[in-house]
Amino acid sequence: TNPNPTYRRILLKLSGEALMGDEPFGIDARVLDRMAQEIKEILELGVQVGVVIGGGNLFRGEGLAKAGMNRVVGDHMGMLATVMNGLAMRDSLHRAYVNARLMSAIDLAGVCDRYSWAEAISLLKSGRVVIFSAGTGNPFFTTDSAACLRGIEIEADVVIKATKVDGVFSADPVTNPDATLYNKLDYSEVLSKELKVMDLAAFTLARDHNMPLRIFNMNKPGALKSVIMGEDEGTLITR
Ligand code: UDP
Repeated sequence: TNPNPTYRRILLKLSGEALMGDEPFGIDARVLDRMAQEIKEILELGVQVGVVIGGGNLFRGEGLAKAGMNRVVGDHMGMLATVMNGLAMRDSLHRAYVNARLMSAIDLAGVCDRYSWAEAISLLKSGRVVIFSAGTGNPFFTTDSAACLRGIEIEADVVIKATKVDGVFSADPVTNPDATLYNKLDYSEVLSKELKVMDLAAFTLARDHNMPLRIFNMNKPGALKSVIMGEDEGTLITR
């Protein structure tokens, strides 16, 4: 097998739910620490790692709006939730002796840095993990959109989305035992088969900029490294 990583620079999307582990709410510190170790492992291979972090374990604007809250305010809360997750992730990386920087699309002086494209690139080049939080900074978007946006901005080789299942299936694998896992798909197949990969805004952004997407199971230890080493892990979506 090839000893060199397939990717030079990646954008890893971690959902809020992934940080929750088996907890009903919030953050599972053990899950966070394991992710920090897995990120450290791929950094040591020379891979540059940008991370976009979700907030669904804490708040989602859509859910808050259904309960009667103003959607924009709910989305502000959702974005701030991603900053909280980012703080926890950065802390976990620091405890694993990994240099990491937290940036936010919303100004939060004294808590973390404001997102800067040029600074992010220079930090990545010097081997720092850069965590991008607060999504795109705008309501009505998701952190999947932020992942594709930042991935394109930093010229990542791939956007890697960590989920709780092994990749993209023909149907929901949780409710349908006959669902089959796709190894490779192209953008048009995802649309014609109406497969759930990301919301449409995020997906079309990736497609329009020819950004490859990889969906994999972060609960599977070592899976991130397998992805980086170019092994068949999860689902790859390309042109
Ligand atoms: N959000 C937003 N704009 C963005 C990204 C996120 O308003 O650009 C809000 C939105 O309310 C969303 C919440 O932040 O529901 C948490 O993000 P997301 O649902 O994408 O988190 P994940 O599902 O990845 O945990």
